[in-house]
Amino acid sequence: MKFDQYTAYDNEHFLHPWEGMADLGTQERTFSHRAKGIYVTDAQGRTLIDGPGGMWCVQIGYGRADMAQAIADQVLQSAYYSPWNMTSAPAAKLARKLAQLTPGDLNHVFFTTGGSTAVDTALRFTQFYNNALGRPNKKHIISRAKAYHGSTYLAASVSGKERDRTFMDTVTEWVHFLPHVNPLHRPDGQSVEAFCDAKVADLEQAILSIGADRVAAFIAEPILASGGVIIPPQGYQRRCWELCQQNDVLYIADEVVTGFGRLGHWFASEEVFDMTPDLMTSAKGLTSGYLPLGACFISERLINQLKGMDATFANGYTYSGHPVSCAAALKNIEIIEQENLLEHVREVGPYFLQRLQKLQDLPIVIDVRALGLVGCVECSIDPLGQASLEEDAKLGYRIDAHCQALGLIVRPIINMCVLSPALIISRSQIDDMLGILEQGIRLTIADLQAEGLLRDY
Ligand code: PLP
Repeated sequence: MKFDQYTAYDNEHFLHPWEGMADLGTQERTFSHRAKGIYVTDAQGRTLIDGPGGMWCVQIGYGRADMAQAIADQVLQSAYYSPWNMTSAPAAKLARKLAQLTPGDLNHVFFTTGGSTAVDTALRFTQFYNNALGRPNKKHIISRAKAYHGSTYLAASVSGKERDRTFMDTVTEWVHFLPHVNPLHRPDGQSVEAFCDAKVADLEQAILSIGADRVAAFIAEPILASGGVIIPPQGYQRRCWELCQQNDVLYIADEVVTGFGRLGHWFASEEVFDMTPDLMTSAKGLTSGYLPLGACFISERLINQLKGMDATFANGYTYSGHPVSCAAALKNIEIIEQENLLEHVREVGPYFLQRLQKLQDLPIVIDVRALGLVGCVECSIDPLGQASLEEDAKLGYRIDAHCQALGLIVRPIINMCVLSPALIISRSQIDDMLGILEQGIRLTIADLQAEGLLRDY
């Protein structure tokens, strides 16, 4: 009864992210009433595996008493200070710790409230940097189709998910998008190596045609998470980074999803993809989602060029370096270290991929892909994947509905189901998760057959 009332409040008053106006006020959203480890318990008392780990963020799992204690201690000690003219021990300690964990000379951290504001800060810093160095025309940003970098005006402007732009304005005069980098959709007969060459050439061509003296930065997620866990071909990231270096173009690595152990390392840029970005963004796993916090890391080399100038980086937030969020991040890092979660991901990651690959033979599954503990199953009603996006659009939601009834939340994105569970997940829990996913897909196939929607499988 109580929850029916909350559903009504939710529908009447809570505008959710990406709220669709067509079904506004009629949603039956699952309540996360309690959560522990990799599980969420809903309003009806049913326990579900949280496949997406919140929103790719609950690295250490839910319901940690040690985290609750660290947060409570900091609230009682000092819940807030103004980052403009004061500082605090948790923020200073966290900044130092992050400088040690980040690759290369990313020794300066600008704290933000989440991933979008971290990306916004990185973009605003590139503008500031070039303006201060007397080259105001070096302003253009290159991004990619299917990229997702957030929801502030600038972060949304460099995001390349077309459908998100339908009713929204974005900056267009200095933003450019490269074509998709998904090897699954490469031209017939093209090898993955040739596809990689073509994708690097796309970037080279864009820099050439805009003019290197006008391109400020290339922004890229190491793997495109919200775009559908797109893993570019091997060597792509490093070759793009080399191109940027050759052309004096800053490389912004958006590690909001890939950081904090998701790919088995603190950050993926250097350890997995062998490159050292000039700027890097982080959020989500930084606090395991217990409190909001983001970070934009800036290279010492860039800061040194500005040091001593009569110029102010006029960017910041009331909650930059919030002491309670920083205390949560410090505890989160401590837990990841003490419980060897990075090693754990490196160990179970290949098993996760292997288990996902077993789904490949199911009719409607056209691709499975994973790296570390983030993965995706892509589906189509057409065996050759030649159905239109509209025809396949609801497949992710159909599978999610069956999976939720069976005890698993998956993250549906159009025709894809995305998984990025808490990093503490065990092998047997991976079996449980993928066992339910398989059943959910089988039930969806049965529905499609009954409705006559499956094509010649
Ligand atoms: N960057 C990437 C790669 C993301 O996946 C996201 C969110 O999913 C963001 C930025 C935005 O982060 P936030 O939602 O915390 O603002």
